[in-house]
Amino acid sequence: MGKVIAIDGPSGAGKSTVSKLIAERLGFEFLDTGALYRAAALHLKRMNMREESPDADISRALHGVVINFKNGRVFLNDEDVSDAIRTTEAGHYASVFSAKKAVRDFLLQTQRDAAVHNDIVAEGRDMTTVVFPDAWKKFFLDASEQGRAKRRYLQLKEKGMKITMEEASADVRERDKRDSSRDIAPLKKADDAVCIDTTDLSLNEVIEEVLKAVNKTQ
Ligand code: C5P
Repeated sequence: MGKVIAIDGPSGAGKSTVSKLIAERLGFEFLDTGALYRAAALHLKRMNMREESPDADISRALHGVVINFKNGRVFLNDEDVSDAIRTTEAGHYASVFSAKKAVRDFLLQTQRDAAVHNDIVAEGRDMTTVVFPDAWKKFFLDASEQGRAKRRYLQLKEKGMKITMEEASADVRERDKRDSSRDIAPLKKADDAVCIDTTDLSLNEVIEEVLKAVNKTQ
């Protein structure tokens, strides 16, 4: 088993960018678990699954499905879905279907397998609490709601998507409420995670904070 740096937090707190750069700096692999949930949700949507669908139907729909990463791209059964999973709609369905036990069970092993032969930086909502409770280092990245909405807005704009600040704000608010209040693996700060509020920090400052904590007790 490799070393795991586990990073959780709400949407728009800067987890993906920070995790990717930390992985690069340390020579670790980067595991974007949100991408796994987004790809699984895209598949379920295409299979006409709904929020109300029973777990047994969802499990059946996911049977044999392969989601993996190649050269930084996300593949759903060999289809490159890297762009399709980044819309606000895909984020919405990821949040809806990720509350389902069948989906979480389906993705659990895939996530743990990523650390079997590699040192990884894993980011998501339950990395520090459920998937890697014994992670080498744990972090919880947070930011004000306004700060997270602004970050999400700029990210989507940069990808050429049409979105207003109000829509970005509604997106983070709706998803965080659902992600934090669900019964299974809700988003919460682990007792032993280092909490970093990224609202007023630059990207470099966040990276330095994380690296300082990583190096502290190495
Ligand atoms: O991080 P990202 O915005 O790509 O995640 C999309 C959705 O996937 C989140 O809103 C959340 O509902 C779900 N998710 C999750 N557990 C994870 C990662 C993502 O439930 N570890």
